[in-house]
Amino acid sequence: MAKVFFDKERCKGCELCITACPKKIIVLSQEVNSLGLHPAVLTDGSKCTGCGFCFLVCPDLVVTVSREENSNG
Ligand code: SF4
Ligand code: SF4
Repeated sequence: MAKVFFDKERCKGCELCITACPKKIIVLSQEVNSLGLHPAVLTDGSKCTGCGFCFLVCPDLVVTVSREENSNG
């Protein structure tokens, strides 16, 4: 299962990740962050595939993607 974390205090709401997400699960929050901007948030994290497109397009290093994989060594 993939986990994506958005550091909302760094996000400037440029929407690049929203455009890039193939699952269309990223939106801008109604709330504002400490920059006074609407940050990107996930609508349904369970649909995230961990493709990392949001991480790749974000110019401000807001997104962290971690993958939990079963491995036998
Ligand atoms: S990792 Fe991929 S599916 Fe998940 S939120 Fe980012 S762009 Fe969307
Ligand atoms: S690409 Fe980065 S800065 Fe732009 S809205 Fe998405 S998370 Fe925020």
